[in-house]
Amino acid sequence: MEAAFSLGDELGPAKVVHVHEPGIGLRATLVVDNVAAGPSIGGLRMAADVSTEECARLARAMTFKNAAAGLPHGGGKSVLYGDPRMPREKKEALIRALACALRGVDDYIFGPDMGTDETAMAWVHDEIGRAVGLPRELGGIPLDELGATGFGLRHAAEIALHHLGRGLAGARCAVQGFGSVGMHAARFLAEQGALLVAASDSHGAVADPAGLDVAALIEHKRSGKAVSDFLPKGRIRAEELVAVECEIWIPAARPDVIRAENAPRMRTRLVLSGANIPATDEAERILHERGIVLVPDFIANAGGVICAAMEWQGATQSAAFDAIAERIRANTAAVLESAKQRRVLPRQAAVDLARERVRRAMATRRWSIF
Ligand code: NAD
Repeated sequence: MEAAFSLGDELGPAKVVHVHEPGIGLRATLVVDNVAAGPSIGGLRMAADVSTEECARLARAMTFKNAAAGLPHGGGKSVLYGDPRMPREKKEALIRALACALRGVDDYIFGPDMGTDETAMAWVHDEIGRAVGLPRELGGIPLDELGATGFGLRHAAEIALHHLGRGLAGARCAVQGFGSVGMHAARFLAEQGALLVAASDSHGAVADPAGLDVAALIEHKRSGKAVSDFLPKGRIRAEELVAVECEIWIPAARPDVIRAENAPRMRTRLVLSGANIPATDEAERILHERGIVLVPDFIANAGGVICAAMEWQGATQSAAFDAIAERIRANTAAVLESAKQRRVLPRQAAVDLARERVRRAMATRRWSIF
């Protein structure tokens, strides 16, 4: 078979579009994976080292994430080759040109991802009217400012802890990566009486078994200071965060931070995946054997995409947040219950749930994946 089709399996991709405009140095790829459930939503990632394979993997992840969240959307992703910190005029020209080139691909809706933001989405919207994650002035719901993903994590936490026979009040949590996802998760959990006992950012970590003042830590971080300077006597080594004793451990920074060598050191009951793929397969198995429940990324961190899909439908901010709570609670419960009944890892249960929803959508189509 031709190399161009080597990415294909029974779920997708439906189409791969390469865009090239030598006049301005534009090189980009769009993968529309599976649109059986509806037009695909997925981020535009800008980086120098992206690839078609990465784009296809991310598009498939969006198919599962959107299906798992019960959204009327399939999965897609686009990648733009280039350094996102290039001069603004050049970046704007590239993104506007890419939007124009993809004007006719109306089963793909642009969203923000690494290297792009709401301003970039405003440029796409201006050209072709097909983007989510827009600035408020254009009808957007600013999901990072409001903490849509952190809000979803708080609901996943409540359901998962209930599954373990306890509530959020007094539950201790540790957050790795006190950024947009991590700080809002900590804030929403603290509102329910949970205690933030440790947090980190790329500069270091801090811990206090008596609980850190979340509002003050957010203010400290927003003023540009490092988390580890918040409480000098509570400073711990970044590698020690994984072993902090708590009920909820939230990875909200980088992939693969929980690995075979540190998973045995975790002293938590629950790992709530804020970041994508925070644990390796082997680490997930180790945690499972140790009785630590891991709520998979595309179940726990779907708040952002649910918010984006609601924005696309023209919903209000409060309707979007209601949808996040309702869907994430239902999905977390369904996945943990199914994992328990079938004695499989939560990830397996989550993938099966998503696949089943995609297959049901496919069964309604004249073709299959589009
Ligand atoms: P962000 O850049 O706002 O925050 C990331 C934080 O992690 C920063 O505080 C940074 O200092 C810290 N960090 C980086 N490397 C670290 C390390 N090695 N150890 C500890 N901390 C480290 O990013 P974000 O939007 O909060 O996203 C965090 C993760 O969640 C990413 O993996 C992202 O793909 C994923 N995610 C984000 C959303 C969203 O709505 N923003 C939705 C789903 C998934």
